[in-house]
Amino acid sequence: MTDRLIENARIVDAAGVRPGSIAIDDGRIAAVGPDVASDRGDADDLIDADGMVALPGMVDVHNHMHDPELFPEGIDFASETASAAAGGVTTVVELPTQTPITSPESFRAKRADCEGLAHVDFGLVAGNVDDPDVDVEGILAAGTPDFKTFTAEPYLADDGTIVSLMEQVGDAGGKVRVHCETQGILDHARASIAGTDPDVYMDSRPLEAELDAISRMGWFAEYADCPLHVVHVSSGSGAREGERFESRANVPVTLETCPHYLAFSKEDVAEKGPFLKVNPSLKSPAEVARLWTAVRDGTIDLIASEHFPTYREDRERGWDDIWEPYAGLPGIETTLEFLVSEGVHEDRISWPRLRELVCARPAREAGIYPRKGSLRVGTDADIALVREERFEVSADDLRFAGGWTPYEGQEWSARVDTVIAGGEVIARDHDVRSEPGRGEFLARPQ
Ligand SMILES: [Zn+2]
Repeated sequence: MTDRLIENARIVDAAGVRPGSIAIDDGRIAAVGPDVASDRGDADDLIDADGMVALPGMVDVHNHMHDPELFPEGIDFASETASAAAGGVTTVVELPTQTPITSPESFRAKRADCEGLAHVDFGLVAGNVDDPDVDVEGILAAGTPDFKTFTAEPYLADDGTIVSLMEQVGDAGGKVRVHCETQGILDHARASIAGTDPDVYMDSRPLEAELDAISRMGWFAEYADCPLHVVHVSSGSGAREGERFESRANVPVTLETCPHYLAFSKEDVAEKGPFLKVNPSLKSPAEVARLWTAVRDGTIDLIASEHFPTYREDRERGWDDIWEPYAGLPGIETTLEFLVSEGVHEDRISWPRLRELVCARPAREAGIYPRKGSLRVGTDADIALVREERFEVSADDLRFAGGWTPYEGQEWSARVDTVIAGGEVIARDHDVRSEPGRGEFLARPQ
């Protein structure tokens, strides 16, 4: 007996897009292929996908969603994983923001909090490490091999701390993720800026700060023999800098970028102002074009949302003083629709490349492939159905509680229609149907 059958879909796999159906039983994928529908006509629930594209649910491995010390009331792991579900994201890996998660005890406490709130399955990253005296083995045993550190404020770690962390994590079989901008360059740039207008923000975070830090972290990782993940590469030149270390292959180096670095350049700040305040800052149109090339040719390994939730009113303060609001953009609900609309439909990337960038590769990096990030028989039935539709992006149509999106007013061509997780329909047309606590913690192997 089949619990649920998705018929007439265009199913994306590693090689291409094929017409077919997906049978779901007991929360898992029971069968996939062109002949499934006729075999399984007795399903309890039938979803006619009618030419929609079926992808594995997106696996978003960089987002900030749970920090009661920092995020205001109404923004927590429940509201933000609901926003994830609405956007076709069925697995999240969350990173610390202001509250450090640098001991097994704090890791377990955060896990317990999140378990009560999660709409989708989740993993956690430890950090932000700014002290070399950290219980790496204990945190690994508590459920993550991933440690985050910074070369820039507000969570700046000094070079000695980063090397020491990399040695410990490398020995233990984990991975270090680094925010790469060199603080000395940022300080120098900031000192010469007097104004408070939004456009001066971009001048305070030069491209060279990113290039220098990616290069240094590459050498640090080689020296310490530790896998390195460079988060949110903001420029095509940054991707090329990281590629040097990918091609040396002495230690694994993975490069991540985010949709906002592909959607916007610093020239968009005149119109969008504080709604584009993010670290690293946006770069030139030429860098955006180079970054798309790096996404297409495989230099960039994966794309994550780097979702950071704030309310619209908080962000509005930045029109008068751009230094006031916290940097960061909401985006977990719009990443898939953006990448289909501006990536696949504009012929910048193929469907299989999209699947690799936001499903398969992030799941592999998180140690949860093929259970997550694939549509293989026997794996979790986590599926995003996407339909072609022209529409204008509006925060009013999103589940996100903050009431804004940097993409407001853009014309897109793909919508997330139906989202299935663990075999259940958890969202339809951005209307979330699951309950907080449905999602499970994913203890991640080394
Ligand atoms: Zn982040």
